[in-house]
Amino acid sequence: MVHFVGAGPGAPDLITLRGARLLAEADVVVYAGSLVNPALLERCKDGCAVYNSAVMTLDEVLSVLLDAEAAGKTSVRLHTGDPALYGAIREQTDALAAHGVAWDVTPGVSSLFGAAAALGAEFTLPGVSQSLVVTRLAGRTDVPEGERLRSLARHGASMAIFLSAGLLDRVREELLSGGLPGDTPAAVVYKATWPEEKVLRCTVDSLPETAEAAGVRKTAIVFVGRFLGAEYGKSRLYDPSFTTEYRRGKP
Ligand code: SAH
Repeated sequence: MVHFVGAGPGAPDLITLRGARLLAEADVVVYAGSLVNPALLERCKDGCAVYNSAVMTLDEVLSVLLDAEAAGKTSVRLHTGDPALYGAIREQTDALAAHGVAWDVTPGVSSLFGAAAALGAEFTLPGVSQSLVVTRLAGRTDVPEGERLRSLARHGASMAIFLSAGLLDRVREELLSGGLPGDTPAAVVYKATWPEEKVLRCTVDSLPETAEAAGVRKTAIVFVGRFLGAEYGKSRLYDPSFTTEYRRGKP
C-alpha cells in the first residue's frame, strides 16, 4: 500500500495524527525534499529507507514505490502542505492504479492556511469577500487562458497566489490590469510556520519592492484582497438579533 501524506506547511507538529502514524509505520518514505521539513523524518522507524524526490524523476519515484510494493512493504509519499494543491499526485496515483497498487491520501495543512494563521487573517469576511481564489502566475507551467491572474483579479475576491514569489513584477502588472486598485492590501508570507518565517504586509503597488527588500524570492505565498484591510461587516451568526437553529434572537 502507498500512502500519500500531507506534511503540513513546515512546523513538524502541524502534520496530522494520521500522517504521523503512517510515517512512523512506513518501510519506505519518499519525501519532497525541496519543501518538506526534514525534522519530520525523525518520525521514521529504524531501517526505514528514505528517498528525496527533489533529485528524482517521476519514473524514479514510481520505481521506488513499485519495488517496495512488490516486496510487500508499506510506503509513504510525503508531500508539502496538502497533496491536492500543486502536489503532482495524480500522475503518481494513476500510474500506481495502472499497476494494480492500492493507495490512499491523508490530507495536510496547506501552506495557504499556515500563512493565513501567521497573519491572523480570515479570507471570508462579510461585506468584503465570500470567496477564495487559489491560483498561480503562469511560469514554466502554463495556466489556462480563462484563469489568467488578470481575469481572476476582476472578481475582487480574496486571492492566494502560489509559486509566484519570484515574479512579483508580473503579479502586480496582472492584478492592476485586472482592475484592482494599486492600494489594495496584499501580503507575502515566507516559509510560514518555519522558524525563519517572514510576514510582510504591503499593497499591490508595493508587492515587488516589499519582497525584494526582505530578500524573499521563493517559498512564499502572496495574498491579495480587502480581507487584509481594516473594514468588514460582522457575522450574522453571532448577531444578537439573529435567530438560528440554536439561539433565539432578541429584537
Ligand atoms: N501542496 C503545497 C503547495 C506546493 S507548491 C501546499 O498545500 O502548501 C509550492 C509552493 O507552495 C511554493 O512556491 C510556495 O508558494 C508555497 N509554499 C509551500 N510551503 C510554504 C510555506 N511554508 N510558506 C509559504 N509558502 C509556502
